[in-house]
Amino acid sequence: MPFRLYIDKERCKGCALCVSACVRGVLRMTKQLNARGQHYPEARNPGACTACRRCTAICPDAAIEIEKADASVTDTPAKKES
Ligand code: SF4
Ligand code: SF4
Repeated sequence: MPFRLYIDKERCKGCALCVSACVRGVLRMTKQLNARGQHYPEARNPGACTACRRCTAICPDAAIEIEKADASVTDTPAKKES
């Protein structure tokens, strides 16, 4: 797997924009709820991720990070004050 996805489920508000944005079908919403009472996404097919970062760009809560598995380069979204 060339990339790792990190989803901070507690930052997620369950909008599912990331699922719609991923043309590779990597993400899907889970049936589990976070502490905010919202469903959050998971990587059902992480091997298909191309690190296009559409999901990180569209997420309004900066809840997704993509990291290259074989390098130290990380796409870390800016943390928002809550
Ligand atoms: S980086 Fe691109 S391919 Fe990977 S999960 Fe996000 S939208 Fe899908
Ligand atoms: S776009 Fe962000 S806030 Fe919306 S479901 Fe995906 S991870 Fe959660």
